[in-house]
Amino acid sequence: MQHTKFSWIVLECPDCGEQYSVFSDPEIPSEKRMLYSDGFFWDPIHWRTPRIIGCVTCESGFFPEKGKMIASIPIGEVTGKWTKLKRAEPPKAGNLALELRIRKKIEPENEKNIRIEFWYAVNHSDEGRQRFDTNERFRNFWLESLEKLEALLSAEKSEDRLLKAEVNRQLGRFEDCILLLASETDSRSLAISREAEKKNRTVFTL
Ligand SMILES: [Zn+2]
Repeated sequence: MQHTKFSWIVLECPDCGEQYSVFSDPEIPSEKRMLYSDGFFWDPIHWRTPRIIGCVTCESGFFPEKGKMIASIPIGEVTGKWTKLKRAEPPKAGNLALELRIRKKIEPENEKNIRIEFWYAVNHSDEGRQRFDTNERFRNFWLESLEKLEALLSAEKSEDRLLKAEVNRQLGRFEDCILLLASETDSRSLAISREAEKKNRTVFTL
């Protein structure tokens, strides 16, 4: 059983103590994983850890590294009260917009992580997509955030570069996207470049 090496990490919200579970090795895909061009993935077994977690009890957002780690439970031993734990989810699109509006001083890395989740909220949640489709003010705020995210992502770091290229493609800056990925040979980079050549701005599955 290869699953025995995985565990649930229990994190406590630093503001109210509500507990959430995150998966120990989210970068390892299960066979059910659906990966998207923007790096978001849906995986019911090895689920994604949001870059900022939305607390449903106190409605604030907290970064996983700021959550107090309560326990690490091997998958086979998840029983009793632990089975009732909520999985960590990102804040809703409206709350992420609020995070960006009210946080006065944000470290660049944190700002980047909030803006990435805000980007994902419209690409991958019905609630975010609906706001985007029906609320012009929200739509402008989201597009502005995407431009700010582009500026925060470094072309020098490989993990950032791929996201930067994808943001540029979704903003319709196809030439910039292609240039950023010019020397990349992995399948995700090639797929993103191909869609940029076709002038396709929409997010797609890999
Ligand atoms: Zn809380």
